[in-house]
Amino acid sequence: MTPQTETPVEKPYVLVDFAAGQLKRAEPVGHNAIDGRKLTGEVELYLIVRTPLQVASGSLDVVKTAQGEEVIAQGSSIARYKAEGTAQRMPIVPGSSLKGALRSLVETLSPSCVAVSSGATRFAIPRPLGRCTRIDSLCPACRLFGMSGAGHDNYLGQVSIVDAQLIPGQGGLVLVRIPLLWAPARGRGGLPGRYLKSQVARGRKVYLPSQPAAGPDARLALKTGSVLKTSLHFENLSPAELGLVITALGLHPQHRFLPKIGAGKPVGLGSIEVAVMAVRLRGNITQTGRLGGPAVRYSGDDVLKSRFQTWAEAAIQEGLVAPQALTAVTDALKSDNLKRPPMEGVY
Ligand SMILES: [Zn+2]
Repeated sequence: MTPQTETPVEKPYVLVDFAAGQLKRAEPVGHNAIDGRKLTGEVELYLIVRTPLQVASGSLDVVKTAQGEEVIAQGSSIARYKAEGTAQRMPIVPGSSLKGALRSLVETLSPSCVAVSSGATRFAIPRPLGRCTRIDSLCPACRLFGMSGAGHDNYLGQVSIVDAQLIPGQGGLVLVRIPLLWAPARGRGGLPGRYLKSQVARGRKVYLPSQPAAGPDARLALKTGSVLKTSLHFENLSPAELGLVITALGLHPQHRFLPKIGAGKPVGLGSIEVAVMAVRLRGNITQTGRLGGPAVRYSGDDVLKSRFQTWAEAAIQEGLVAPQALTAVTDALKSDNLKRPPMEGVY
């Protein structure tokens, strides 16, 4: 036995109990037609970067610091566009990253399966929460974001998000240096004991926002204050399902919080604030003919707040959002926590 010499550090996360325990599976509505009784449309969003945000590009860049020093840094996602005859390089947050972060929050808030778990971790997931495998029996998260099961059962989700693009002049990339990070369950021994109760995972991990911690690992990230624009498209959702999505974006009027995206979550990176410009609903085809009627567009703070309230309440009423999970997530990710000092020690 090695004696414990390191000072224990405060853990930068909370474990949120698996929502409500009872998984609610149902047959998805499908994609063969737009159902006039359901909601189809899009949410126009701004993402406001509250602590540096890095979605790794997988490549290394040589970056010159203000002091003229050359540093090798992990790159950030970039898209190339052809504009005015030249190729423009524009920082983005890929829609797939946004979708992954949103799915994780939806799973935490709703009676859904644990879709991502591998190796030793899988054995610690409570049995009833094992991932969905049959297309006629999908949990809320798999209906919204899709499922790929064994064999031929695959389901394209009913929510999609386009790449978020930096608004020109509203921020940009900056070099950040963060501590080296280690995966929590990197050994073959499975999850560390503090995650478990009687060999079963105690809940889902949600990292607390804080000021960014400093260290030797150089990365390019979108700087604090950067603003990106994106849109979320949804098809055939019930008001409660749309309410679950709105709630998971941190937009429930009484439960606002800052989702985290990308790398360095334990060390204070990746807190974003979601702001909505407008929600557009496609017209009801059964009433306006097969081309659909004009879209209804909701905008303005008061109008949107009242819509969000209605949809989010429906999600709670219909058991798609577990109130205790919502309280725990809101408390963990509240904007006030950004004032927390950077976490130090080994993560
Ligand atoms: Zn599922």
